Amino acid sequence: MSANAEEQAFNNVRKLINDVCNRLNVAEAWRLRLNVCCRELTVHFPVKMDNGGIKIFTGYRVMHNDSRGPGKGGIRYHPEVTLDEVRALAALMTLKAAVVNIPYGGAKGAVVCEPEALSQNELERLTRRYTAEITILLGPESDIPAPDVGTNPQVMAWIMDTYSMGKGYSVPAVVTGKPLDIGGSKGRLGATGRGCMIIALLATKHLSMNFKETTVAIQGFGNVGSSTAKSLDQEGCRIIAVSDIKGGVYNPKGLDIEGLLHHNREAGSVVGFKDAEAITNAELLGLQCDILIPAAIENQIVEANADSVKAKIIVEGANGPTTPEASDIICSNGIFIVPDILANAGGVVVSYLEWVQGLQSFFWDESEINSYLQKIMTNAFTEVLGISQHEKVDMRMAAYILAIRRLVAAMTTRGIFP
Ligand code: NAD
Repeated sequence: MSANAEEQAFNNVRKLINDVCNRLNVAEAWRLRLNVCCRELTVHFPVKMDNGGIKIFTGYRVMHNDSRGPGKGGIRYHPEVTLDEVRALAALMTLKAAVVNIPYGGAKGAVVCEPEALSQNELERLTRRYTAEITILLGPESDIPAPDVGTNPQVMAWIMDTYSMGKGYSVPAVVTGKPLDIGGSKGRLGATGRGCMIIALLATKHLSMNFKETTVAIQGFGNVGSSTAKSLDQEGCRIIAVSDIKGGVYNPKGLDIEGLLHHNREAGSVVGFKDAEAITNAELLGLQCDILIPAAIENQIVEANADSVKAKIIVEGANGPTTPEASDIICSNGIFIVPDILANAGGVVVSYLEWVQGLQSFFWDESEINSYLQKIMTNAFTEVLGISQHEKVDMRMAAYILAIRRLVAAMTTRGIFP
């Protein structure tokens, strides 16, 4: 990989940050702060494997900015994850928390590994050792991990337990996205998908489309993709295609989502689902549909395939699924894109609610959680749309403007120590 490519992901985020800082005449000190991650830890650590051998793994935990509150962001287990990607994702978390106006900064972590190739015991030992390595950064007041690609509630439980063992008492609020029986929040598992559904509904309203008559294609059927499919299905939308890393399935009359969720649990993929045609990921992205939801990984809609997108609305379920060049092409083709830092913020919103419940040891029921989520997502969408219309910019630029205004206000009010 060239030095340039190694910095591509963070540079893409920085370019927009700098464009917005120039537009808003942000003081150089704050622009420079937003261009760097305030803390970066790289760890290389050993894990005992089931065959008696020892393997060395590399992990990261990065905080981008904590002006508005403690660092918040997921932990990714993926064989190709890089420090550059973690920096970019941490910066997106800072912006995301600011867009939805919750009191968090942005952070992200990762371990370079292939979780599917590890046994459950190896995964547990890897997670516990990684947690011990980064524990100096973690804490409910300092840096709070959550699940991301390749991690899940069980991994969060091991992180919470390892951190608590070091403290000598239980600290549930050190992670979010944990299982319900150790202080997880109702509604957290499906929160990102529910948030995407709320955003899709608001976007169709804005474009005077009938939400219940929309057709939807979703790339990725993990936590975000499957929970988005479930929420949209419950609202009566017609999901015509979904995919995962192995391929996709398509039925123009609408897929049976309950059946597909069951098939995916049994087969480990959507591929092979009955009553549907096989389709590739590339074909899915170019399908004739009303709403396209990329909910897999970054850089899926690029300059080369941007013109093939035929949807009327894109709701970015994944972080960074559209490159800046592709985003420009798509906007100039009249497609309404709701950017990642707004569209997939449902997860961090309910993570925030989980953290608040953990700190106060008082828990809300699911309808209360969903109504907070609805209110916070609707407010953020309305504010971003207002800026987009007032400043005549696309929704991504508008979301960055809102976030950077809030971040600059916080940095200015706090000042620089000492
Ligand atoms: P996941 O690991 O649960 O699921 C990822 C899905 O994408 C799987 O179905 C996988 O097969 C598929 N996939 C992976 N590589 C692919 C490829 N090259 N082509 C097509 N499909 C591919 O991950 P997740 O938690 O659902 O996260 C998905 C995206 O959403 C990521 O960008 C993540 O950062 C973002 N995100 C996640 C959350 C959350 O709460 N989990 C919140 C906000 C944003």
